[in-house]
Amino acid sequence: MPSLVHVQAATNEEVKPEAAAAAAHFVFVPLMAQGHIIPAVDTALLLATQGALCTIVATPSTAARVRPTVESARRSGLPVSLVDFPLDYAAVGLPDGVPGGADNMDNVPPEYMLAYFSAVALLRGPIEAHLRDHAPQPATCIVSDFCHPWTVELAASLGVPRLSFFSMCAFCVLCQHNVERFNAYDGVLDYNQPVVVPGLEKRFEVTRAQAPGFFRGWPGWEKFGDDVERARAEADGVVMNTFVEMEPEYVAGYAAARGMKVWTVGPVSLYHQHVTTLAARGNTAAIDADDCVRWLDDKEPSSVVYVSFGSIAHADPKQVSELGLGLEASGYPFIWVVKDAGRHDEAALAFLRGLEERVAGRGLLIWGWAPQALILSHRAAGAFVTHCGWNSTLEAVAAGLPVVTWPHFTDQFLNEKMAVEVLGIGVSVGVKEPVMYRTDQKDVVVGRETVEAAVRSAMDGGEDGEARRCKARALAVKARAAMREGGSSHANICDLAKCFEVGATQGTAE
Ligand code: UDP
Repeated sequence: MPSLVHVQAATNEEVKPEAAAAAAHFVFVPLMAQGHIIPAVDTALLLATQGALCTIVATPSTAARVRPTVESARRSGLPVSLVDFPLDYAAVGLPDGVPGGADNMDNVPPEYMLAYFSAVALLRGPIEAHLRDHAPQPATCIVSDFCHPWTVELAASLGVPRLSFFSMCAFCVLCQHNVERFNAYDGVLDYNQPVVVPGLEKRFEVTRAQAPGFFRGWPGWEKFGDDVERARAEADGVVMNTFVEMEPEYVAGYAAARGMKVWTVGPVSLYHQHVTTLAARGNTAAIDADDCVRWLDDKEPSSVVYVSFGSIAHADPKQVSELGLGLEASGYPFIWVVKDAGRHDEAALAFLRGLEERVAGRGLLIWGWAPQALILSHRAAGAFVTHCGWNSTLEAVAAGLPVVTWPHFTDQFLNEKMAVEVLGIGVSVGVKEPVMYRTDQKDVVVGRETVEAAVRSAMDGGEDGEARRCKARALAVKARAAMREGGSSHANICDLAKCFEVGATQGTAE
């Protein structure tokens, strides 16, 4: 039985059914982490191309990273705006805030994270006040990152529906859902013992270390994990950065498991088609876009290995040198995003500077934010060594590239399974447990020989390698088709814009 949500303006005025429909107004509340806000902004821009108003809320330094993208879209006439709200750390018992005053997750030390989430939850009041007093038009739908349970009250108070936003694939979200729903880890004491994911036709094994469930297994986070689960269960629908042709059974499986509609809208990175917007996506790049393109232009098609572990993960110094030596030994041209120099100790810096000199011309090190979407879409890109953040994985799919999978934490182990076992486009380096957020940090998880072998396998790899590359190219064709007019993701974007117009009555459950 579908539940019907009457989409009404967030005022007390009655919306007359016969009145001409006014555009939807989506309010995006992303998690303040680049892997979440970047696809949320892209989704907002895609909805704005269909005439929907979109307001994106963020904290000040997080907003600063995506402002150039939003401003450029506004200048081109899209009805999108970005509003920032500072965090009140004192109100959650952190009178001096978190070190460095961080308001974006990649800069928050783990021991401050729970307090940080509490401070973010206090944004509800200021956001609501802003929407009532300043928004160009009342909100008609909240699109909330699934990690923000407090948006349940925000949406209820405004009297509008709330969609859960996932920058994750349906396979991952369904696996996590099923291991929790069917208590797959009950009685399993060893966090590294594989269990079969219940409720799926195909057999996949996971361990509790790899897929503990969202916010599960961290002492002190139990209530937050429960709140997040409740908010997911009570959502009026789901927006996901994936496309249905890539994983039809898992999209349908999650919709059925939750009894709610899933709008697949990706790969949202394909919104960006020009060098300038590709280069500005997500942050200010540490390399000039034209220099980067010139470097790539000099290389043969499909010859360059791109190496990046996303916006949060960073490696131990000894691991840095093993990776560098493996790349050097592979003999392929490469771009390696080594992040800011300040993130490395003296030994790692000395190693990286030495490597940079030795491989000049063949290897390019990017010291900070890389224009990743620009690099992956260049014809010289040949393979992507990735930590399997979902955005990176999907960006590889959109670019038609095979991946070397090296998960570090959270959903990345399931995304690795997606790339290797579901899609058949990945070569694993064989990491079995998370390396982030643990006290017994290991120096070296993947040795140089393994790096070299995995890179060779992705770039060459005989028949298996060719099969992976073929599958990756075929997927990219489907991904682009999904985003074109008439494609599945494009149709879902149009549907969302229509469903949440003022006065629309939308069935949000399947
Ligand atoms: N990204 C980028 N340049 C960088 C690092 C990351 O453009 O130097 C982008 C990348 O394209 C992706 C996002 O940041 O869109 C990272 O998200 P992902 O889910 O891959 O990983 P996370 O950072 O959340 O671990």
